[in-house]
Amino acid sequence: MASVAKRFKSSEKEDGIYEGFVHQVSAVIESASKRRYFTAILQQADKCSRMVVFDVQKHNFFQCAEKDRSPLKVSGVGMSPSRQTAGQNDLLVNHRSIVNSVKRVDFLFSEPAQESIQEKNINEILSDGREFQKVNVTAKAVKLCEEGDGVTRQKVVMKKATYIIADATASVPLTIWGNNLMNIDCWYSFSNVSVRRYLGSTVLTTTAETIISTTVAQATTVVFKEDSSEIIRGEIASAEAKVVHVCPKRHEITSVNVDSPITRCEMCKTFWKTKYVTKSVSVEVMVDVGHKLVPVTLGTVLVKSLLGVDVLLLSADDLVSSLLAHKMLQMPRPSKRSMAAKKRQAALKSTEVKCCEEF
Ligand SMILES: [Zn+2]
Repeated sequence: MASVAKRFKSSEKEDGIYEGFVHQVSAVIESASKRRYFTAILQQADKCSRMVVFDVQKHNFFQCAEKDRSPLKVSGVGMSPSRQTAGQNDLLVNHRSIVNSVKRVDFLFSEPAQESIQEKNINEILSDGREFQKVNVTAKAVKLCEEGDGVTRQKVVMKKATYIIADATASVPLTIWGNNLMNIDCWYSFSNVSVRRYLGSTVLTTTAETIISTTVAQATTVVFKEDSSEIIRGEIASAEAKVVHVCPKRHEITSVNVDSPITRCEMCKTFWKTKYVTKSVSVEVMVDVGHKLVPVTLGTVLVKSLLGVDVLLLSADDLVSSLLAHKMLQMPRPSKRSMAAKKRQAALKSTEVKCCEEF
């Protein structure tokens, strides 16, 4: 066994050749940058490595190899530090890599241990903010910051709610995608949530694999105090509204002629009766907080509480004029703001903010 392990170590260094059994082949995923890939676990003689395969033509081949328990030899493999496990490398398989079946290897097929996701407290998560790592955490929902629609990395429009959750060590924003069934002041155990960085802060977000379950109340949490920097109060200086249409599979459709009975969704390549196409609204405003303009993204719930009307009944132009007719806005600072708005803020920084006489 020792000699086998040695052979693998040296081959890793020399030419990036790996042999082993394939496990846990994922579906094909599309990244934010439109790159398609899938992942799998390669069980080698002495360890298991996560593989990221960018040559999606090989997906079926990997699926069959997993089903048949037939070992593979992969050469021309790149490496990159693992996002899941500190100190380990992911194996990157691209179009130049060569993947072959091999008759046998010197070790037996065995199910790899389930990718172990660590239970962490919030302070531990904040002090090791490695992006895209998965964690389990138990915490109390202390505040609902925003609720509305959001667009996922796969360009699917989904319900989205952002909470502050807290445990005995710290608090952190958590975005929940999909149906939101959480109650304030209740304790939950969140399994398999993803750590992200947003505007320099650590935030948590649910993924398709996340499981949220209620749990018994723990001792106490840190006192979540809304300091003044968490409140935005000021005049609405600018507003921009985008009304998007959404197909029944929740894809964003860029152009819809509401008078036409049929609408095509490019994402699912499907023709829909236009009456099944719904609307979603996103609004960005700049709020004059006295010394600077702060960008804020308003979801449908906040816009409705501000204007007192169902936002879906208004056109983008009507939304903007109604918002600008409003004098002041006071709201909790949302944990997520759009990068586009952030850029605009940077551009506006040099511009002096003037009081508008007509208000
Ligand atoms: Zn669609």
